Amino acid sequence: MNIAFIGMGIMGKPMALNLHKAGHTVFVCGRRPESMVPLTDAGCTAAASPAEAASRAEVTIVMVSDTPDVEQVLFGEGGVIHGARAGSVVVDMSTISPTATKTFADRLGTQGIDMLDAPVSGGDVGAINATLSIMVGGKPEVFERVKPVFEAMGKNIVLVGGNGAGQVAKACNQIVVAVTIEAVAEALTFARKNGVDPAKVRDALMGGFAGSRILEVHGKRMLDNEYKPGFKTRLHQKDLNIVMQTARELGLSLPGAALVMQHLNALMGTGDAELDSAAVMKIVERASGMAR
Ligand code: NAP
Repeated sequence: MNIAFIGMGIMGKPMALNLHKAGHTVFVCGRRPESMVPLTDAGCTAAASPAEAASRAEVTIVMVSDTPDVEQVLFGEGGVIHGARAGSVVVDMSTISPTATKTFADRLGTQGIDMLDAPVSGGDVGAINATLSIMVGGKPEVFERVKPVFEAMGKNIVLVGGNGAGQVAKACNQIVVAVTIEAVAEALTFARKNGVDPAKVRDALMGGFAGSRILEVHGKRMLDNEYKPGFKTRLHQKDLNIVMQTARELGLSLPGAALVMQHLNALMGTGDAELDSAAVMKIVERASGMAR
């Protein structure tokens, strides 16, 4: 299949590469030309704009940062809508606002272009290994057409509901991940303050009800005091902002997520925006005089 891929970041690069490896013809578009080099070296074709990439594709995938970025890539100057053909499908795999997603789907729909929202979970490791969880919103028949494309990038692929439902599922995912990161940071700090080896505590907890991927992956980053991303703090803050804004619109109380949001805000304030969000540990440690 001819696929356009827009956004050559930590996630976009390996996802586009996996589509190429699966035998698809991939047209890539990155904001910085140098970000496309690993893909063109591998055999993908560079496009000068999202419109140009989309004009050559049956499916156009977008993987950029935030809601305004997706809006710009889709509808701005040189945007997807100026090149995509009627009957093609736009798949937004970025994590953005569910409400804006529905508006974007409607705007594309007026040009005869279908849209799926398909945010992912599984991090850079899942992107590289093509084992991402993909949460999809949109029409079932459009989902079926795009499914082989998803299968080249992920394993657990679920059509959750109509447009925006994929983004709602991703917001749910981020609530669980954020609150679990906080819990792991507090537990490992509790161990250390008690003079007990937190690495041994993590080993002991892994086999029981407290075991999780967060305890495994993020817990290791916390033990090593090593926060190379992974998933950047500024992106996790962006996701919890989506959660909190939606909660406010709906009159929904989410005190756990709100607390972690404050810790992510604190990391942003201390210049740690580009660290992995497991760095919440640093805030927890500082609060108890345990900074390393
Ligand atoms: P990233 O490394 O910061 O990459 C974002 C990419 O989007 C960059 O290449 C950036 O271009 C491009 N971009 C941003 N705004 C743009 C705009 N207005 N126009 C054109 N290009 C634009 O982020 P990432 O980690 O790949 O994350 C991408 C999305 O996936 C985010 O929505 C994130 O929340 C989500 N996600 C990330 C992970 C993870 O573990 N990293 C996991 C699940 C979901 P430049 O290179 O020029 O800055």
